[in-house]
Amino acid sequence: MILVFFIYGLAFFILGFSILLYPKRDSAFKFTDKLGLIAGFGIMHGINEWVDMFKLINKDPQTARVLYLLGLPLLVISFLFLVRFGAVGIIESNAKFKTLKFLLPGLLLAWSILIISSHSHYLSGTVWARYLFGVPGTFLSAYALFLQTVEFEKLGLKSVVKNLKLSAAAFLCYGCLSGLIVPRAGFFPASFLNYDMFLKLTGVPVQVFRTVCAVAIAYTLVRVLSAFEWETKTRIKTLLEDTIKINKDLEAEIEKRKKLEMMKDSLTHMVIHDLNNPLMVLSGNLQLMQMALKENEPVAADMHKKLHVAFQESRHLKNMISNILDISKMEEGKLNLRFEETDLGRLARDAADSMNVIAQQQQKKIIAQTISDLPKVNVDKDMVERILLNLLNNALKFSPAGGVITLEVDCNEEGNSVVVSVKDSGPGIAKEYLDKVFEKFVQVEKDQLKLKGKIGKGLGLAFCKMAVEAHGGKIGVESEPGKGSRFYFLLPCRQ
Ligand code: ADP
Repeated sequence: MILVFFIYGLAFFILGFSILLYPKRDSAFKFTDKLGLIAGFGIMHGINEWVDMFKLINKDPQTARVLYLLGLPLLVISFLFLVRFGAVGIIESNAKFKTLKFLLPGLLLAWSILIISSHSHYLSGTVWARYLFGVPGTFLSAYALFLQTVEFEKLGLKSVVKNLKLSAAAFLCYGCLSGLIVPRAGFFPASFLNYDMFLKLTGVPVQVFRTVCAVAIAYTLVRVLSAFEWETKTRIKTLLEDTIKINKDLEAEIEKRKKLEMMKDSLTHMVIHDLNNPLMVLSGNLQLMQMALKENEPVAADMHKKLHVAFQESRHLKNMISNILDISKMEEGKLNLRFEETDLGRLARDAADSMNVIAQQQQKKIIAQTISDLPKVNVDKDMVERILLNLLNNALKFSPAGGVITLEVDCNEEGNSVVVSVKDSGPGIAKEYLDKVFEKFVQVEKDQLKLKGKIGKGLGLAFCKMAVEAHGGKIGVESEPGKGSRFYFLLPCRQ
């Protein structure tokens, strides 16, 4: 029997200390907080069994008395831990059972009354502790453990679910053996269902069966603790995955920034180069004219041509610089529009006329079509003129010799906006570039365009979009490769 009590107590000690020492900090499992109650039961009951063991070993009457007195409170406290665990676990799973929170004080009260009213306080205290705390404590705990399976079933932790069910079954058996089979007492059912009757029936002391149950409870519940290991592993895995993702995002961001930096560098380079070209032509032609004028030569016929080239290049230069300056001003929100009532039809015709001078030299033509009763719009005239010039410039740049460009000004169907469109017979734009051409620095791939040398800086359309939107309007393009392009923008009419 000494060995039986030793194993009995040891099993519960292992259970209690395993729960206490198992790393489970910050666990998200619902049953983690309550596990301390099972640990409390394990350690208290373990001590109780070892006290019983020492009772068998001890020969000293004084120590025997102390051990005898110690037994009852240890038994009561250990079972109370189970009552609490069962009640909390069940209430947490189903609020319907919230009255269970009164169970523990209720049982304590009943137990106190019963032992006070009995003649043999210690014996009836032990027997009633088993009936009143042992039976409900183990049964409720078994049910509470069974209820915990739901949480682990969802996570697919089959082994944890299996061990929880087995531990619930072990608790049920333990409840029957520990709560119902009690020391013999003078009242029913202890007078009938007791240790002596059990020994007579089975030939084995009930403590042996209880020990088997205790080992089963300890074994299955310690295996349930593997859920925390799984949780830690999963957390580490998620953490690793997150770190890898953050790293990838960071790399992508660095790559993006590098590209942007490179784009800016090449843009600066290109802009300087592009500003330099027209400047060289401009100064060269002006110098030639100055020399001719100094020598008082008659104005040669080609002097007009030189003057024209110089003028054209200066316009180009002015437009590029204005685009760059306006874009940065608009980005910083520092551009103030000067709104005035404007006849867009007239503005369009003027823009077409001025660009037609250049168009004719390239054997191209711009036709302006405007409706007669066009409503006036409140816009910054200079800005809208520059939008028109940018669009016409592009249309000219991309149209083949002999091409006709149509500049149309009309009202939209709803009659609340004026629609301006520039249609050309150029190479068109592939679908994947349609949304992008309005972005800063975006240019259609040279291969796609098959127009070497006609690639600009990707700033003209970005300027147009910002300027149109600053007016509360909308800009867009319809195009198909080989079928020309139609750039259009809408400006709201005065209400
Ligand atoms: P840039 O012409 O200075 O490069 P834009 O912003 O005006 O800058 O145009 C951006 C890109 O859109 C151009 O590089 C060109 O590839 C494409 N694009 C603009 N207008 C046309 C057009 N009418 N036909 C074909 N492609 C065009």
